[in-house]
Amino acid sequence: MRVTFATEAAPGRPNEDFVAATPDATVLLDGAGTPAGSESGCVHGVAWYARSLGSNLIAGLAQDGKSLTEILAEGIKAVASLHDFVCDLDHPGSPSATVVMLRRTADTLDYLVLADSVLVLDTLDAAEPLVVCDDREALVGAAHRASMDALPSGSPEHAAAHRKYVEALRDHRNRDGGFWVAAIDPLAAEQALTRTVPISDVRAAALLSDGASRLVDRFHLATWRQALDVLAGSGPTELIRRVREAERSDPDGSRWPRGKTYDDATAAFWTFS
Ligand SMILES: [Zn+2]
Repeated sequence: MRVTFATEAAPGRPNEDFVAATPDATVLLDGAGTPAGSESGCVHGVAWYARSLGSNLIAGLAQDGKSLTEILAEGIKAVASLHDFVCDLDHPGSPSATVVMLRRTADTLDYLVLADSVLVLDTLDAAEPLVVCDDREALVGAAHRASMDALPSGSPEHAAAHRKYVEALRDHRNRDGGFWVAAIDPLAAEQALTRTVPISDVRAAALLSDGASRLVDRFHLATWRQALDVLAGSGPTELIRRVREAERSDPDGSRWPRGKTYDDATAAFWTFS
């Protein structure tokens, strides 16, 4: 098996994505941003949260015998205990993250997807790749984003509307009928999409933060199949380069309205020989 990955922060900001791999497992997290001017109740910040949870999860994946859901629930609990004595974890804006976990055993592949990062599996039995994405946040968000999307990205008005959008979504976070992310509540792990597939059915797998998947699912400049071809032929760095090129070509979001002109972008790619 071969694993390659690349991650790139949005220009001028700390990278709030996290990726780590062992010979048998990969985790990818996308910390949910606290926009400038927004409160979070946490002195550590989103990048710290994603790194702390991600490193806990990759350590958990190196141990045998636990399900991905159990590893995630324990990781959420462990990271909460790292700052519950200094930070206000009841704050609705406390740091959170999407999670994708992929683990290989002798003859199976286990995956877990929570929130809007994407797992793409290239399977031998289907012409089109299997795309696993938890779209509950997008469904909730659709009702709140019209005023933000109508404003030019990069303007103070757009920044204010983005902050309002993020704060409006907090009311729906980790609630039934809303959407689920890794934050404080270990029960969120049970809301993740999980499955085990025979390893012999899979040719390749890609883990993408939404800053990388936007080439396909927001910009529509590639199909999932073409994205897998880029990853296989030129690697994760090239996929991210294409995302940046598209973002630069539309700095005010008039072609592709979006919360962030540039986003942290991370891609990891597994191939099996
Ligand atoms: Zn904190």
